[in-house]
Amino acid sequence: MGIKVAKFGGSSLADAAHFAKVKSILLADADRRIVVPSAPGKRSSTDIKVTDLFYECNKLAGAGQSMDDAFEKIVVRYHEIAEELQITVDLDVHLEEVRKNIKLGAGADYAASRGEYLNGILLAAYMGWDFVDPQDGIFFDEEGHLDSEKTQQMLSALLAGHSHAVVPGFYGCDTHGRVKTFSRGGSDVTGALVSRAVNADMYENWTDVSGCLMADPRIVRNPEPIRYVTYRELRELSYMGFTVLHEDAIFPVRMAGIPTNIRNTNDPEAPGTVICYEAEDYESEYMITGIAGHKDFAIISVEKAMMNAELGFGRRVLQALEEEGVSFEHMPSGIDTMCVVVREDAIDGKKERIIKRIHELCAPDSVEIHSGLALIAMVGRGMVRSKGISARLFNALMKAGVNVRLIDQGSSELNIIVGVDNLDFEVAVRAIYRAFVVKEPRW
Ligand code: ASP
Repeated sequence: MGIKVAKFGGSSLADAAHFAKVKSILLADADRRIVVPSAPGKRSSTDIKVTDLFYECNKLAGAGQSMDDAFEKIVVRYHEIAEELQITVDLDVHLEEVRKNIKLGAGADYAASRGEYLNGILLAAYMGWDFVDPQDGIFFDEEGHLDSEKTQQMLSALLAGHSHAVVPGFYGCDTHGRVKTFSRGGSDVTGALVSRAVNADMYENWTDVSGCLMADPRIVRNPEPIRYVTYRELRELSYMGFTVLHEDAIFPVRMAGIPTNIRNTNDPEAPGTVICYEAEDYESEYMITGIAGHKDFAIISVEKAMMNAELGFGRRVLQALEEEGVSFEHMPSGIDTMCVVVREDAIDGKKERIIKRIHELCAPDSVEIHSGLALIAMVGRGMVRSKGISARLFNALMKAGVNVRLIDQGSSELNIIVGVDNLDFEVAVRAIYRAFVVKEPRW
């Protein structure tokens, strides 16, 4: 028998109706033997996530104020689910213990983690599966980073004794034995770590969308879904603002060669998007896999005659940025010019100082900062060794009246990045989409 780890996000476990959907999804495939739940999420756009209620309780308790009203909302949420589904579990014992500990100052991480913890207890009782506490299997080091090796060892040993288990997402244990959470949205990371620990055949990440789309639906109407994307492609796309999973959820499964399948709890028949290691077996219908982009970058342009012959010039330019705590995104350069692309907000209030420092360190002929740049990445394994891609891209941009201010193609040929004026961003994304994806024009 195979094994699939199914992680369900907060919106997939927001109420009793969703719990019931989750159960039928789990029972529909005998390989789905480990489930990682998030805390109950929003039931409507005005609702409050249980995790946020817990943070609120902790804040109030810390300020010496009453947390009773906020905690009561949490009690009601769990009780509603348990009663509607007739789950027999003594929730009050757990809730009271949590209430007491928060009041005693157990801290923000403990409080926030209880959303997943209680949901795990509820789901385990509902499924009749074992509850496995990640505080016994996921470990952080002294600096607060995940202790990947120890986690892999302990978590696989912990899970080895359970044929069916519920492992709450979002938290683990610090070096003092206390609860520590990942950053927000971290249940994705738990799902990935659990998948690696049991060497799963598939990491299923169930959410409220049917996978990834080839472009932002706020810019392109009805973009095509992505059926297969490689981890490398996803990394390029995520870097450009394509948000699918928590960033740290990619590496554990990628390293272990386990594919991730993004699925929709409200449309379980839809195949969703499979993120895989190598997609050679999965031919793509299109030459590109996705388009992603971001506005508000700036170019720091440094000019100096004979720059190419000056040893350490580039390092000194970057030193000026490093001293100001600014990391750079790209560095397209010419013989006597060096351009460094940075995020506009990263240099906010620092421009004068950066220019001055580059002058001091490099004695250039000129330093200028141009803002208002948008970057668009066109990513796709189908582009590797294909001819005519750039021609098609620049032809499309020319026809759309877009001036290209910057071009950057990685030597992997997996992506081409173009920089355009902020004002041209949407027009450019649509032009690229039309040139590479649309069979029938939609506009
Ligand atoms: N419940 C946590 C959050 O709201 C973690 C998660 O949902 O993944 O961030």
